[in-house]
Amino acid sequence: MRHIIVVGAGAFGGWTALELVRRGARVTLVDAWGPGNTRASSGGRTRVIRATYGSHTIYTAMAARALEIWRDCEATWQADLLHLTGALWMFGEDDEFGRASAAALHAHGIPIEELTASEARRRYPQIDFGGVSSLFLEPQAGYLRARAACAQVVERVEAEGGEYRQAAALAPRISGTPVTSIELSDGSRLNADAFVFACGPWLGSLFPDVVGPLVSATRQEVYYFATPAGDARFQAPSLPVWLDAGERFIYGIPERAARGFKIADDTPGPPIDPTGDERVPTAAGIAAARAFLARRFPDLANAPLLSSEVCQYESTPDSNFILDRHPEAANVWIAGGGSGHGFKMGPVIGQLMASMVLGELAVDPAFALARFASPPIGGWRPKWA
Ligand SMILES: Cc1cc2nc3c(=O)[nH]c(=O)nc-3n(C[C@H](O)[C@H](O)[C@H](O)COP(=O)(O)OP(=O)(O)OC[C@H]3O[C@@H](n4cnc5c(N)ncnc54)[C@H](O)[C@@H]3O)c2cc1C
Repeated sequence: MRHIIVVGAGAFGGWTALELVRRGARVTLVDAWGPGNTRASSGGRTRVIRATYGSHTIYTAMAARALEIWRDCEATWQADLLHLTGALWMFGEDDEFGRASAAALHAHGIPIEELTASEARRRYPQIDFGGVSSLFLEPQAGYLRARAACAQVVERVEAEGGEYRQAAALAPRISGTPVTSIELSDGSRLNADAFVFACGPWLGSLFPDVVGPLVSATRQEVYYFATPAGDARFQAPSLPVWLDAGERFIYGIPERAARGFKIADDTPGPPIDPTGDERVPTAAGIAAARAFLARRFPDLANAPLLSSEVCQYESTPDSNFILDRHPEAANVWIAGGGSGHGFKMGPVIGQLMASMVLGELAVDPAFALARFASPPIGGWRPKWA
């Protein structure tokens, strides 16, 4: 039986480990701080799941598959992970992304409900639709309980025969031949036949020559504002997940369990050190979120901030994932570059990685490191990320 070590128990590594266990491998999953820890990109309370991806249909199809798996797992594991509230998409003057998304969703048989402005106002009186030129509802979308899901996946890894260890792995020494072991921070060594590094924003520092700046960690603030007493308008089912693809891409998740109304700006923030930096929100970020609320959700204009999260995107230059073999060690694999949209895809990434590691699937050029050999013109970041 092949022994495979997966380093990193976030969305990418946890699902990879689970899929490898299910395909008969002996798996050891290690994480420095634990699944969905507060430093990890998968560590937030919630993450949006949606198949709306403009013309990047590779992700439309992946998200649809991922949703099926999330649904199955939720039912089989009897766990509270997925909340299908629907997602309300609002587009500004430039609605090219909306039109491309609608076409792609239609082609994939994923329903959307186009809404007129007056219909939207009637359904969602708590939203001011000023500046919105078109909108639609994606009913088969919603949110996932992110860190709870990471913990659940690791529980399943163990329940189905894998091993989980809390340990920090050092970067493997690569010398052109297959790697036989990795060293842990306590000085011990783990031997295996193959190694998957799914270390999110830490990938660049673990593999400075091969990944380095191709995965950049940016600071992303998330706020939870209080809703008025006795007022259910900011909870599902009165409010779905909403995404405002106007000049900036701002989105939110309805209040859940009286923990506040979530709002975040998708624009990449300044660089962050995922290990050492403190996770305190900035006054400027809070003020910007409040200004947005005053415009779009006027009844929350003066809502007190209940709590916040400071997370990080671990983005590649083109916002596409990296799912590839290390170019100098055939049995070392790299999975990451979620670029602000990877969480929902965990179950599919797990399947792809397991197939590649077990030699059943070739690396997809869309996710290969080689694509960065010729840098993209202008370095673009699409709005769907
Ligand atoms: C604010 C925010 C909002 C987002 N919104 C969405 C969304 O709505 N929908 C969506 O699909 N995605 C979203 N994302 C993106 C998504 O959360 C990430 O792409 C995804 O969680 C990345 O998972 P990962 O497993 O690659 O990385 P991580 O979750 O960071 O996992 C890496 C793990 O590796 C461990 N590790 C690192 N180095 C070592 C080492 N040397 N030894 C042992 N362990 C190590 C860490 O402890 C960590 O647990 C969002 C991200 C953020 C920050």
